[in-house]
Order: sequence, then C-alpha cells, then structure tokens
Amino acid sequence: MATYVYDFSEGNKDLKDLLGGKGANLAEMTRIGLPVPPGFTITTEACRAYMASGHLPPELRVEVTMALRRLEDSLGRGLGDFHDPLLVSVRSGAKFSMPGMMDTVLNIGLNDASVQGLTKFSGDERFAWDSYRRLIQMFGKTVLDIDGDLFSHALDDMKKARGVAADTELSAGDLHELVDQFKEIVREQSGREFPQHPREQLDLAITAVFNSWNTDRARLYRRRERIPHDLGTAVNVVSMVFGNLGADSGTGVCFTRDPATGKSGVYGDYLPNAQGEDVVAGIRNTLSLADLERLDPTSYAELRAAMRTLETHYRDLCDIEFTIERGKLWMLQTRVGKRTAGAAFRIATQLVDEHLITMDEALQRVSGAQLSNLMFPQFDSEAERDLLATGMAASPGAAVGQAVFDSATAQEWAAQGKDVILVRRETNPDDLGGMIAAVGVLTSRGGKTSHAAVVARGMGTTCVVGAEKLDVDVVARRIRVGKRVVAEGDTIAIDGSTGEIFVGAVPVVPSPVVQYLEEGLDVALGALHGDDADQTAELVRAVDRILTHADVVRRLRVHANADTADDAHRARLWGAQGIGLCRTEHMFLGERRVLIERLILATTDDERTAALDALLPLQRADFVDLLEQMDGLPTTIRLIDPPLHEFLPDLTALSVKVALADERGETGEDVERDRLLLAAVQRMHEANPMLGLRGVRLGIVIPGLFALQIRAVAEAAAQRLADGGRPHAEIMVPLAASVMELHLVRDEAEQIIADVAREQGVELHIPIGAMIELPRAALTADRMAGAAEFFSFGTNDLTQTTWGFSRDDVEGAFFAEYTEKGVISVSPFETIDRRGVGRLVRIAVEEGRAARPELTLGVCGEHGGDPESVHFFHEVGLDYVSCSPFRVPVARLEAGRAAVSTGGSDTR
Ligand code: PEP
Ligand code: MG
Repeated sequence: MATYVYDFSEGNKDLKDLLGGKGANLAEMTRIGLPVPPGFTITTEACRAYMASGHLPPELRVEVTMALRRLEDSLGRGLGDFHDPLLVSVRSGAKFSMPGMMDTVLNIGLNDASVQGLTKFSGDERFAWDSYRRLIQMFGKTVLDIDGDLFSHALDDMKKARGVAADTELSAGDLHELVDQFKEIVREQSGREFPQHPREQLDLAITAVFNSWNTDRARLYRRRERIPHDLGTAVNVVSMVFGNLGADSGTGVCFTRDPATGKSGVYGDYLPNAQGEDVVAGIRNTLSLADLERLDPTSYAELRAAMRTLETHYRDLCDIEFTIERGKLWMLQTRVGKRTAGAAFRIATQLVDEHLITMDEALQRVSGAQLSNLMFPQFDSEAERDLLATGMAASPGAAVGQAVFDSATAQEWAAQGKDVILVRRETNPDDLGGMIAAVGVLTSRGGKTSHAAVVARGMGTTCVVGAEKLDVDVVARRIRVGKRVVAEGDTIAIDGSTGEIFVGAVPVVPSPVVQYLEEGLDVALGALHGDDADQTAELVRAVDRILTHADVVRRLRVHANADTADDAHRARLWGAQGIGLCRTEHMFLGERRVLIERLILATTDDERTAALDALLPLQRADFVDLLEQMDGLPTTIRLIDPPLHEFLPDLTALSVKVALADERGETGEDVERDRLLLAAVQRMHEANPMLGLRGVRLGIVIPGLFALQIRAVAEAAAQRLADGGRPHAEIMVPLAASVMELHLVRDEAEQIIADVAREQGVELHIPIGAMIELPRAALTADRMAGAAEFFSFGTNDLTQTTWGFSRDDVEGAFFAEYTEKGVISVSPFETIDRRGVGRLVRIAVEEGRAARPELTLGVCGEHGGDPESVHFFHEVGLDYVSCSPFRVPVARLEAGRAAVSTGGSDTR
C-alpha cells in the first residue's frame, strides 16, 4: 500500500517534495522537541493521485482513519466528540511556499453537538459559537464555493443591528443566531445542509485543498514563480489550538532577523485574542513582540528560546507562526524566511561572522537575481521631494508610477505601457494580477508579514505597507491624507527601503552596489551618508565579500558582449575578463551604412575597392580603441553577421519613391541611382532573412567584405603592439554550418594576417574560431574543430534554429499561451533548454574537445548571463560565458555558486 499519510513524528525537513514545505518543517520542529500541536500530513503524492483520477484514492481514506485514530488516542479526545471535542485545521502546504494562494479550513469537527462540548471545554459559550460560525463561513467559502461576501454581509448586518463595531462585542446569543443564518446561506446557495458529520467535513476539506492547487490564481502565481504545475500540494491536518480564548491568548508571526534589512533581533507582529489567519491577512493592526513581552513574559521567553533553537538548527533566518492558548505557546509553522535581496547578502555574511555557515554556504544563500535587484537605481535623497506619508518598508526599490486602486485597472493601464502603483487598503490573493502588473504596491494596513508584503517581496516588486495615515478609498478612487488628495492617475513615488511615499515623480540615482562595482569598495563606502549609511555600508561590504569569494571559487571565466570601446570599458570595470562577442555589424550602421551599401551594390572592381578603402581606416580605428580598452585580455571580434537587408534601404519606401518619380516623369542622376538601387534591393529581397544571406555566407558571397575586417583586425593588433600594448584579438566566424565554410574564411584570413605581419614587421597570433549556432555545426563539431581554435556557442540562433522559433516574433506572439498550456515553463530564449539546445551544446563540447583537446569553449548568446543557464554551462565544462556588461556581476556570482554547488571548490 502506498504511504499517503505521515504523522508529524515521522517526517523531517528534507521531505519537502513529499510533505510540502509546511509539513516537512512541522515534522522537523516536532523532531527537535518544539511544542507543535500534533497532527499528520497527507502527501503531495496523494494530491497527484487525486488529480490524475479525480477522486480520493481509497487507500488514502484508510490511512487518514488510522492517522486520525492515532491522533485521537494521543490526545484522549475524539474528532467532533460532544463532550470534549478534538478539532482540527486542514491546511495546504506545497513544496514551494505560495502565500495565500491555497485554502485552509479551521475548526473542522464542530457541529450542533460538539459546539456544546467546546463550550464546556473552554468555559466560554461565546467563543464556542464564534468558532462554529467561523467554520461554516470558511467551509462555505472554500469547500462549497459560496460567495464569501454573503457571510461577511450577514456578520456586518448583525453588528449593525446590535449597534457594535467589532465582532468581539457580539454575544453568544448573537453568534448562535448568526450560525443559524450561515447554515441558511449554505442551504440556499449549495442546495445542501452544512455537513454535520466531522469525517465528512474533513474529507471535503481535504478535497477542497487539493482542488485549490489548480485555481486560476494559484496557476498564475506558479507561472510567475516558475513552479511546475504537476507538483501538487500536501495537506496538513493539525489539532486546533486557539489564540482567541481571551486576553491570555493570541497569535503571531515572527522572524529571527529583520527580513527587510537582515538586522539580527526579534521581529514580528502579535495579535491578542485572535485566530490564525487574522495576522497574515493584515486585517487588524497588530502589536509588536515587545508588547507581547509585557503582556506575557513567560510565553515571550519561551518564544525567544524557540527562535534561537530554530535559527541554530536551520542556520538561517527563520520565519515562524505561533499561537498562545491561555498562556501556552504553540508553534504552528516555520520555514527559512523569504527576505529582500539586501537582507540576503547581509544575513549570509552575518552568519559567516557568527561561524554558523562557511563562505561557500554564504555564496549559496544569495542569487544572481538578488544581486541584479540590488543594482536597481534608488531615489535621490538630495532631490526635492514632497513627502505624503511614511509606511513600513516591505520590499525595497524605488517605484514611480500612476496611482491605481484596483487590480483590473492596474493590468489595463500597464498593458498600455504605463507605470502604475497599485494602492489598496490591504491586498488579498485576488489582487495578484494587479500586483504583477504594477511597478509598486502600497497599502494602508497590515504589517511586514501581510499578504502585500510577502507577495511583493517574493516577486521583487517595490512595496510599502501599513501607511496608516493614508485614507484609501477604492470606491472613490483616491487617497486622502488630511486635506491632501491623490486621485487615480496622479503620479506617486514609493521607497520600498524606507517606507516613504511621495507625491509626484522623484529622480533616481544609481545604487551604491553599482557604485561599488564601478569604482571599488573604498569610493563606494566613502560616498555614503545619511541615516542609513551604516546599513548600506554593511550591504556593500557583504556584496564585496561574497562576490570576491565567487571569483575565487569559480571555474568559468566571465566575458562581456561589447561592441564599442565605451561598453568594453564598463564591462571591464564590472569584472569582465575579456570580450566574448563584439558584433561588428553595429559599427556599420549610422553614417557608415552607405559605405556598406556601396560595397554590396558594387558591380565593378573599382567601385568595390573604393568602398573598401573608405571603410578600412574606420574599422581599424574601431579595433584599435577596443583592443586598447581590453589590453591584455581576449577580445573576440565577430565578422559581420546580420541579414543584408538591414544595410539596404527599405524596399517599400524605395518602391514608392521610384514610382512617384516615374509618375512625375522625373529624370536625372539621382532618380537613375534610385532605380538601380531598387532593382538590387528587389534582387536581394529575402522571405526569411534570418535564414538567408547572413553570417559566413555573406563573407563568402560578397568579395572583400570579410577580408576588409580581417585586415582591420590584424592592422589594429599590429598598431597596438607597436604602441607597446598587449592585444589579444581573436576572429570569430558566424553562422557556419559546414567546416568547408570555415576553411574558406580561414585560408583567406591566415593569408591576410601573414601579409600584415610581414608588412608591419611584427609577429601576430590571432586565433580564428567558429560560432556554433546552427544544429549542423554542433552535430559536426569534430570536423568544425579541425578548422577552429575556439568555439563560441551562439545560443540565440541555436535556440531559434533548433526549435524553429523565429527569435524576433514568437516571444510576444504566443509564448504566453505556450506557458499557460504547459508546453514550456520559461522562454527557451531566456533560459537554455537543457534537453534540446543543451544537448546539442553537450555534443559539440564533447566531440569538439575530443578532436582538438586545446579547443577553447564559450557561449555568447543571451543565456550567458542567465543564472540558471550559467549553471548548465559550468556543468558541461565551458571555459567562459559572455554576456551584456550589466549582467557580468550576476554571471560572476552564479559561476561561483555553480562551482560550490557541484563541490568544485576546495577553499573551505
Ligand atoms: C547568438 O546567436 O547567440 C549570437 C550571440 O549572435 P546574435 O545574437 O548576434 O545572432
Ligand atoms: Mg547569432
């Protein structure tokens, strides 16, 4: 029989695939002796079996019975017993946290009989009826799919009728009456009675949690977070403890360190006399843990001890949900906490300094995505700013946009290309679409653990929460602060690092991390000032330490794709160890385009020579500058690549021009020239230019074009040598599919390089290599290696030609639908498709190296700067990745992480 159910005492933290994050951690806390209410976890495997067959597997029912009996026996209470009832919560918990996305039902086991038992056990009739009405409300909404507003309106009406403001002021009698009303709602809306049998309640709740895995909002969240749809969720059945049993009870959330800054300490929110979800939902404003210390020093001390135990055990920032039931502390959940990018770096180095983790581990605790997050600009603190209010800094960044007040408008305006800031009183999972579309999220209620804060942090979206001074009116679509009003469409700016909210746009300045990367640690630290200078200094130091460590342990070199001396300069500052791709076609656009046009259209040797003679000095000067910037480092210059039509006038525009001239009967030299040009453009017109006359084909077909570039490279290298430089130019041939193409170019190049060396009296060594960007090149790598000193994988074209996806068209056209339907989980142009394109890379690496052991291997497609792909390139044994200058630090970090995660580092 499959094991679909695990008691908390049976699992551990490493079983997240099977027990989900929550279940695995509940088991772990149970294992290390923390006070966890007993319970059991139904595995993700059961969920997958349910999804496949559409019904609960029969074995599951049996195993639930057994686990339930064990639970009842250990507590000496029966589920739904009418003397002393055991009540349970049913909570979802997938492998990856999906805050607020899936369902939870509390107080399962209550019915008309056991509500009496609960009254007896608690000695509080009001509490018992309140718990019962909560069950029917949650069950009605999540299990029976009844509109939740029907219940909340009934509750509001009751409060109005009794003339009270808070639910806590309703009497036992009022709540009993409400239970009757709720049951009536259930009857009317679902056509059935609210189920009285506790086991039926339990089974229906389990099914509802399984079903909640596939709601639209859950699917949207998973797409966004790249969580596979086929994992399924686990279900945790936990004996209930109550935080709403009076003033000596309560519920809270805490972190062992500040998840926004990384500062070590006790952070959290506490809500006295409240039940579980109230804190996370951010509905009532909370107290701090310092208040808890005052209210209940014993529970507080116990909580502190548990926090320390957990941090020591997990050796990381933990976030914790707890409940205090009449002075007794219970741990309801823990996990390694989500954190901002800045906090991730700071916490990692703090833990190193506390000797809790090694530097290799610190490197694994941060990611390239977090580093790039820290490279975003920030608000200029010197600029004039119009402060509206200050809330809590929940997710860092500087966002400027137009205020919108609902998710639909946010999505609509964002689709029109506007930057929007979603302003809500508080957010709930239905706001997810708007939160994704917005550049920032602002709420007037809730704390750092509210839905808005947790979700925005997860997405890396700037967020400020709990700005209580804001009176947010989502119906009138405006914010009021005293007499000031911000209406929908007005520009506001929010600072997710300080919590400040400004009216109007605020200028932004580069981040201190970027200053560090460009000017070094001392300059960056010296430039810091203001209140948070110390914290920023700690962050910059942490980035420096971790990035330096990555540089020490990584095996992959990191080069940059740069076409100009300026780009090369920046790339070098940011740590590039060479240029992996200089796209020379970019040097021929603008004013020089006509020279190429002339070369392409030349019909006589004289015309051709004139065009080449004009281009040579320009191209040589480009390369001299580039080689000077990259002195001492490999500089890979790619021969001209793109489709020809990019250098010729537009066919339609030229046709119109000629037609007009014809109609007007115009004659003359210019008109004649246009006519010849039009004939040539028509002759060269291609239906599929990306698969047409480009790359090496162009060099072979147009006499003198490659020769010009090769001569310019050789002469530039000779000049740099004469000037005392150390040029390391390399020539790269694009889009070759056959080794014969390489031989043709190579023979010509070797001749030219030898000629230049002789002419200039210098010794030139200029390696000649091939881009591997067509499947045929990869599949014949052994032969290609015979004519190439290096390979550079052009994974943009390799992806385009392996999948047959036009790289310029498909991403915008139908990738959203492909992702939605599960054909792809991420664009193969963004992250390397390991199975297909990756396989070709592997073949070419293995066969190329076998044929020529000293072959240098790199990648210069966009994937070279993508974190996940960098790990793949490390694994297949490339020598370097090359990416855009801005991504160089990210690639350095990820190359380091790849090295330590495969155990390649020996610096421990
Ligand atoms: C590639 O195809 O991956 C590449 C780097 O070349 P380009 O993007 O210029 O075609
Ligand atoms: Mg290419």
